[in-house]
Amino acid sequence: MIDVKKILIIEDDVKIASFMELSLKTQDYDVEIEKTGKAGILAFCNSMPDIILLDLGLPDMEGIDIIQEIRKVSEVPIIVVSAREFEKDKIAALDAGANDYVTKPFSMGELSARIRVAERYLLKASPAAEEKVLKFDDLIIDTERRIITLKQQEIHLTPLEYKLLLYLAKNSGKVVTHNQILKEVWGYMDEDAAKNIRVCMAGLRRKIEPDSTHPHYIMTEIGVGYRFAQQTR
Ligand code: CA
Repeated sequence: MIDVKKILIIEDDVKIASFMELSLKTQDYDVEIEKTGKAGILAFCNSMPDIILLDLGLPDMEGIDIIQEIRKVSEVPIIVVSAREFEKDKIAALDAGANDYVTKPFSMGELSARIRVAERYLLKASPAAEEKVLKFDDLIIDTERRIITLKQQEIHLTPLEYKLLLYLAKNSGKVVTHNQILKEVWGYMDEDAAKNIRVCMAGLRRKIEPDSTHPHYIMTEIGVGYRFAQQTR
């Protein structure tokens, strides 16, 4: 069976949409373009794409609202493609449930790389999402026994470090924002909590990153949040 991935592009800039379409078609993706938010949501319902590329600045709707609408019914990977370089828009899109973002102007290589990450996320979103043992190169997390090993050596984490690691690992390949970490790991948001994340993250990194200057497992997305390494299959 040939597994052709369907990509829905919601973008009102014809040039950018055509550029993406051309490139994606040469990579054997099935591409559909819609120029408004309403048409995009309709196309999503009708053609059930595997991945959505979404422009945040559309003529009829805010991109954030589109993400919220789609997230009510689907976990389809959404990659935000936005000209707005303001971090707050990217963060708001990620908080609303977008998986990733690229900022215009971007290279097709960059976008393709993000699409491949989203494809792996798709694979993972299948039944395996509740896997009991998560493996990332030399790092293995046994969620049932709560045992973490790095190069077969058991490492000891504080309960909070463990909770943080598990949250990041379960969202591997996806950008998670500071807000999402606050909400999901800490359960509340204030300035202290934000500081605590940094402290806890530093502690976790010291324990799992062999070279803290070149993180292998927890990548920093500057001003936005973190991205955990891809799962090893
Ligand atoms: Ca636009």
